[in-house]
Amino acid sequence: MKNTQYDYLIVGAGLFGAVFAREATDQGKKVLVIDKRDHTGGNIYCENIEGINVHKYGAHIFHTSNQQVWDYVNRFVTFNHYVNSPVARYQDKLYNLPFNMNTFYQLWGVTTPQQAKDKIEAERAPYADLEPQNLEEQALFLGGRDLYEKLIKGYTEKQWGRPATQIPAFIIKRLPFRFTFDNNYFNDTYQGIPVGGYNALTDALLEGVEVRTGINYFDKADDYNQLADKILYTGKIDEFFDCQFGALEYRSLHFETEVLDQDSYQGNAVINYTEREVPYTRILEHKHFEFGTSDKTVITKEYPHEFSKDNEPYYPINDETNNALLTKYQELAKTAPYADKFIFGGRLANYKYYDMDDTIEAALALTTQELV
Ligand code: FAD
Repeated sequence: MKNTQYDYLIVGAGLFGAVFAREATDQGKKVLVIDKRDHTGGNIYCENIEGINVHKYGAHIFHTSNQQVWDYVNRFVTFNHYVNSPVARYQDKLYNLPFNMNTFYQLWGVTTPQQAKDKIEAERAPYADLEPQNLEEQALFLGGRDLYEKLIKGYTEKQWGRPATQIPAFIIKRLPFRFTFDNNYFNDTYQGIPVGGYNALTDALLEGVEVRTGINYFDKADDYNQLADKILYTGKIDEFFDCQFGALEYRSLHFETEVLDQDSYQGNAVINYTEREVPYTRILEHKHFEFGTSDKTVITKEYPHEFSKDNEPYYPINDETNNALLTKYQELAKTAPYADKFIFGGRLANYKYYDMDDTIEAALALTTQELV
């Protein structure tokens, strides 16, 4: 007779925790999921405002080329035919993204792939001998000044909160030029938004699983640890160890959401504002993710932000210093008392940017390893 109530306590009802909870439950394990937020779904959660699913933690578009992951999610929801085709706005002009024949036509009036290639070569020529030392030089070297100033500079500086000359060159490895008239942002085989929104996916994953929201694991960690044989922890790894070696750094975001009394504001789900002078990076118009037809619309302005303990950790900053710190925490996770009892998974525990399909793939891999 075992003296714990659950086989697994899962800290975090995000996608990673929810997939593992589903699989463990289906294999006959007794599972409890807790989350400190007042809802499940983690960062894929949507808030319903005026009948529109509002992506509360930033725009989420599901895309994958992983057949196993695609088949898996389609067991729980169906996907609509949304194709991510963001538009960039610089001053009063609009440009299609990713950089493709439409963009080159809008920038330079070129109409054929050969003209576009010749123009890009001419734009790059003044910088051909550069050995790029920072992002600005790298972008000039790869695409020339016009493209850099209109579509890269301001947006990237806002994202990173510093001048492009102080951002490392490796951030832009290559510029993905496409010499076709194709505005589909992703190259993946599958993409879309779950019909009924992301909460439909989370709800289906967590159906029949015991979930308690509004509970911070650290408020009573010792008590929660007693409840289960094993703990899957999907929160921040540094926080788990009381930030004893120092805190891992993130970039954060701040969102301003408005309901507007009009049926459409910008005619597209995502518009990037690439001018440095406009303080936000993007405006999302949520109804267009799901082809909404209501009389009202909801828009969100997205502002990049410094991270502090009072705001959300969005993007890990995987530079040398933070990665070295991460390694120290990962070593500690292996050697700490009762190390075998704890499993670390998901984007915060691994301090890694994972797309949703990577998150699901990683959770399913853990399932295979853990639930034999
Ligand atoms: P999370 O969703 O963060 O879930 C972790 C959960 O743990 C949270 O609910 C948190 O409240 C909870 N938690 C943490 N600490 C505690 C604690 N102490 N006690 C209790 N609960 C705790 N992916 C795509 O594929 N397409 C996209 O378009 C896309 N857009 C993105 C946009 C942004 C701005 C960001 C940041 C990410 C985006 N992603 C996208 C990635 C996607 O959000 C992640 O893959 C996914 O959310 C990761 O799930 P997770 O469970 O690992 O983490």
